[in-house]
Amino acid sequence: MSFKELHSILLDRFKSIFQKKATSNNQSVEIPLIIKKKSKTFTVVGETHIGLVRESNQDRFLIDVDNGIFIVADGMGGHSAGEVASQMAVEHVSEYIKEWLSNNSKYLRHIGTAANDDLQTALEQAFTKANNAVYSAWQGKSELAKMGTTLITAWIIDNKCVLGHVGDVRGYLLRDGHLKQLTRDHTRVAQMVESGQITPEEARHHPLRNRIQRSIGPHPHVSPDISFLDLKNKDRILLCSDGLWGMVTDSQIASALTDQNDIRKACENLVDYALAGGGEDNITVSIMEVI
Ligand code: CA
Repeated sequence: MSFKELHSILLDRFKSIFQKKATSNNQSVEIPLIIKKKSKTFTVVGETHIGLVRESNQDRFLIDVDNGIFIVADGMGGHSAGEVASQMAVEHVSEYIKEWLSNNSKYLRHIGTAANDDLQTALEQAFTKANNAVYSAWQGKSELAKMGTTLITAWIIDNKCVLGHVGDVRGYLLRDGHLKQLTRDHTRVAQMVESGQITPEEARHHPLRNRIQRSIGPHPHVSPDISFLDLKNKDRILLCSDGLWGMVTDSQIASALTDQNDIRKACENLVDYALAGGGEDNITVSIMEVI
């Protein structure tokens, strides 16, 4: 079957596109940054797809434009456990950030912009809160035992993006036509690549590639990586689950992000590339563009 045929069949049958919008049409809209110190705005789109092999979609994503929060989570666990974990984690992380913004609104207005240390602590606490919730939820329940989720959050505050993640969900930045991976996978194979034991290409097919070293839920403590990025006009930030990057190359990701002016179309194309590459896992893609 050609890619085009596959594309049209899948589009009709499976696709569920989600786009956060202020109006009822399907167009991207300009949305002010949460703390509007400058006149920057951003557009964000997201899509999740079950893929071609899995029986359920354990990925979750969230777009909260009012609070500048974008999350992709990829649940792990048998039966429905993975879905429960990813859903819970997404909700707890976003709720914590919302609460923090609300509790600190006076302080933020007073100092003009939040200090990185405070943002880092807030995001770490959001992950801890989510971890406590998921970890507690499976205690004593054998059907949910050790459920967990990888998770990445991009929190846009002022002209900054605070990125926090655990596991192998990834964040990428497209700036001036160049793609850069912003996150380091918390996996055994990523360590093996870093130490020179295997090549990145070998890692893609390595039997241990699904061995996740950090996640939310299975253990009593969580340790996210937190980083900061000063946003520039036209920056595009991609958050995705391994169902995308495991099926497509970085150069396909780069061209999907550069070839399309419309990020919704770029998002659709990325999902289609992952399906054409085999669609072996759930696929989730979220793209934010500073405009
Ligand atoms: Ca996955």
